[in-house]
Amino acid sequence: CGIVGYVGWRPARDVLLGGLRRLEYRGYDSAGVATVTPDSTTVEVHRAAGALDNLVRVTDAHPEDAEHPARTGMGHTRWATHGAPTDRNAHPHRDATGRVAVVHNGIIENFVALRAELEDAGVELASDTDSEVAAHLVARAFDEEPDAGLTAAVRRVVNRLEGAFTLVLTHAGRPDEIVAARRSSPLVVGIGDGETFVASDVSAFIDHTRDAVELGQDQIVTLTREGAVVTDFHGDLAATRPFHVDWDI
Ligand code: GLU
Repeated sequence: CGIVGYVGWRPARDVLLGGLRRLEYRGYDSAGVATVTPDSTTVEVHRAAGALDNLVRVTDAHPEDAEHPARTGMGHTRWATHGAPTDRNAHPHRDATGRVAVVHNGIIENFVALRAELEDAGVELASDTDSEVAAHLVARAFDEEPDAGLTAAVRRVVNRLEGAFTLVLTHAGRPDEIVAARRSSPLVVGIGDGETFVASDVSAFIDHTRDAVELGQDQIVTLTREGAVVTDFHGDLAATRPFHVDWDI
């Protein structure tokens, strides 16, 4: 239901939990965050059904190394469509190796066929959601062509998905990067100084920057500290619509 992603210099957890707090008004049944540090081999994920305070209790119980907090990550508030609103169905979802994490808004309509394809390939699915397939598919696409990068892997996967979705992905092997894709669900990028954001709406990052870019239909954005590169589902650079948020939320 609500999405926020961050790459920059601030401790990511604070940015993500603050962003999720701002997105609470949209309604949700569970919440979660995923973070990556440069030296980690897997993405760290914490999730909790119920109110955001439940998630805060979980993250408080797993404090980060205060000197080296993660500065890349994503958060999600879920409004369940497929799978009960439980801890294990809460987002982010990871692939079986824990290197790729995904948050998803919307519905992946061909998820039954994609789950079957993954199960046939020996993948064990860990949730009842339509969303989890994206983590496994991107991990596999990345492994097939690691040099092509995470954005290329995401592009190959989103071209196979049917339905309306916003997806945000991270890979432990690429700790300074977040990739997001959008089809028929809103997604906005925030451009700060040495930091970038992506979210379902600007309220999630308004405390940090008011320079934003609205993603168009069928577009992918690659976020790094230096900025955002927007391409279409074919891989061509896409026209963007920058705007300044001059209203108060
Ligand atoms: N369809 C996904 C699920 O049920 C995402 C729901 C949402 O947009 O929050 O997990």
